Amino acid sequence: MPLYEYYCPDCKAKFELLVSHKHADDVVCMKCHSEKVRRLLSVFAAQRSGAEDGDFDDYSPSMGDCGCGGGSCGCH
Ligand SMILES: [Zn+2]
Repeated sequence: MPLYEYYCPDCKAKFELLVSHKHADDVVCMKCHSEKVRRLLSVFAAQRSGAEDGDFDDYSPSMGDCGCGGGSCGCH
């Protein structure tokens, strides 16, 4: 299920929701329940590139464990 970011022009709230594609345009503001919320671009992939929160250490490929079979990927 994709993560969408929404912006509410009524109360200027930004919030993220996991919604199915079918209901992606059927969302009301979590704060003021306005129906004018705008869907922003998905932020799912962009947030995963940040290293500041340290939640994704497990995703860092260790040496020799990148699955390239030995040297072809440039990380050795
Ligand atoms: Zn609102």
